[in-house]
Amino acid sequence: MTQPLIIYNTLHRQKELFVPLHAPHVGMYVCGPTVYGDPHLGHARPAITFDLLFRYLRHQGYKVRYVRNITDVGHLEHDADEGEDKIAKKARLEQLEPMEVAQYYTNRFHKAMEALNVLPPSIEPHASGHIIEQEQLVKEILDNGFAYVSEGSVYFDVAKYNAQHHYGKLSGRNLEDVLNTTRELDGQEEKHNPADFALWKKAQPEHIMRWPSPWSDGFPGWHCECTAMGRKYLGSHFDIHGGGMDLVFPHHECEIAQSVASQGDDMVKYWMHNNMITVNGQKMGKSLGNFITLEEFFTGSNPLLAQAYTPMTIRFFILQAHYRSTVDFSNEALQAAEKGLARLLDAVKALEKITPAEKSTVDVSGLRQKCYDAMNDDLNTPIIIAHLFDAAKSINSVASGKESLNADDLKELREVFQLFCFDLLGLTNESASNAAREEAYGKVVDMLLEERAKAKANKDWATSDKIRNELTALGFEIKDGKGGSEWKLNK
Ligand SMILES: [Zn+2]
Repeated sequence: MTQPLIIYNTLHRQKELFVPLHAPHVGMYVCGPTVYGDPHLGHARPAITFDLLFRYLRHQGYKVRYVRNITDVGHLEHDADEGEDKIAKKARLEQLEPMEVAQYYTNRFHKAMEALNVLPPSIEPHASGHIIEQEQLVKEILDNGFAYVSEGSVYFDVAKYNAQHHYGKLSGRNLEDVLNTTRELDGQEEKHNPADFALWKKAQPEHIMRWPSPWSDGFPGWHCECTAMGRKYLGSHFDIHGGGMDLVFPHHECEIAQSVASQGDDMVKYWMHNNMITVNGQKMGKSLGNFITLEEFFTGSNPLLAQAYTPMTIRFFILQAHYRSTVDFSNEALQAAEKGLARLLDAVKALEKITPAEKSTVDVSGLRQKCYDAMNDDLNTPIIIAHLFDAAKSINSVASGKESLNADDLKELREVFQLFCFDLLGLTNESASNAAREEAYGKVVDMLLEERAKAKANKDWATSDKIRNELTALGFEIKDGKGGSEWKLNK
């Protein structure tokens, strides 16, 4: 049965019933990373938030096309239209091709997302691979009179647009607010108005990433790619556009303006934004010295971290907060999440071992619906986790013999845990002690092979063959060499 899903639409500042434009198809676009540095918590949160939504929509039976882009050109250092291109700068500093930088950090991003059990999107388009589509968008906006060419660059005419449409409707600003908070920057004399933003930038002679256009050899403005690629892959009207709250202004506001100025109306029905992450109560930033990459979390190699945290601890920690609340990372909070996750996974293990009784003494009938209700209430994961913890308590009571479960209830509990814990929240059974446990198991195999070597030395072929055959039957491949035997597990 399809359950009604309610999501918070930033555009209308309210929770709304999710009704896809073209059910059973759902189009979802989420702003992906600018690939010039290692992935960090700021990447993990939107990735996990929209992974949860992607998983849930698919569970509801929708055919979801999930597009998450890779920004590899046009994102300038200061998010406004000034400074060097972030990727070009990194390439200059590291003496690499810009595309080498983009590929390297794209690979690192994918690796981190896989560790976090974030499903890959359906399409992952690169900005640099869609220059033609972006130029087309710029042409349309120029033709409709909402942009002007200045010194080879093209700027969006915010004042002219705002006279007919509301520039600021997503962020709840008006043009006056925007002007009051816009700094006058050097080299911006080309603009008619400081609030105008670049659709196309003329490349300076030293700029490597450049493409020909009717206006100049240059590159697209940062906001163009998501409008152009969203439209290319999801159509001129699609369901969901997501990203971090820091993207509401200017990025998504500019996307709306570009869409209305080019095709006459808004492309997106629901705008969804995850809240930000703080570290020990402070905004995370390279200049603040509290910048922690995901790899540093996984290995514990950052002076701010008391220990390593597994990807699942990070995922669980993020899901313990509602996506629209801020999340503050601290060692204490992460250690608590680690313990909580272990408690939940221990209960799952205990659940597997329970044998059914004649009758149940605990009531499990409402759990599934309570979890669905929380999920349908704007993806309220902290409530789902609280329900699962309640159920874990009952499981432990059954496991210790204080309570009992009949076969039907046992099946129901197992299904609900599989669905919510693993399929939807995307947790995996990996625990903090996995690596240590594997090492210990490995040593046991080494020990058996030593015993086998001793047996062989004593010409006790029966024992030697028995060890070999039994290990092989368990999936171990044994290779005998001059220096002894080696093994690997073919599983
Ligand atoms: Zn974007």
